[in-house]
Amino acid sequence: MTATVAPTESARAGRRYGAAVPAPDRPVADLVVLDADGHDVVFDAAEARDLHALTGGLEGATVSACPSCRSRILAVVALSDLLDDAPPFARSGELADLADDAPTLHVYVRDLAQRCAHREWRDPGAEEWADVMIELAGPVIVR
Ligand SMILES: [Zn+2]
Repeated sequence: MTATVAPTESARAGRRYGAAVPAPDRPVADLVVLDADGHDVVFDAAEARDLHALTGGLEGATVSACPSCRSRILAVVALSDLLDDAPPFARSGELADLADDAPTLHVYVRDLAQRCAHREWRDPGAEEWADVMIELAGPVIVR
């Protein structure tokens, strides 16, 4: 009964990659800002560039940051101030709402574009950041 093998193999090959190809009207997520409840604002690469360009790289609100990528912890009050001072940009309103409604004093930036293990990120913020990411999505995403 070797005839049953061939259709199974071809069906498997046909499915390969199908779900992984992003639709053209949905840009690839480049950076996400999350609060401790898991509410998020997702930026594509162009939007993330604007975010950093118009907020001074978020430095004024950064509590702790990975030196090797864009992942960092932001203070919500300082982030609101930064956004008040910045010209409007894509998702700035959503980000301001996230900051206003955050359940804690911090929100968390996760760099999705770089595969960074955050090995150089050594202050206590690194642990807080990792704890939140593990709580929200499981250990698998913290890379
Ligand atoms: Zn990093």
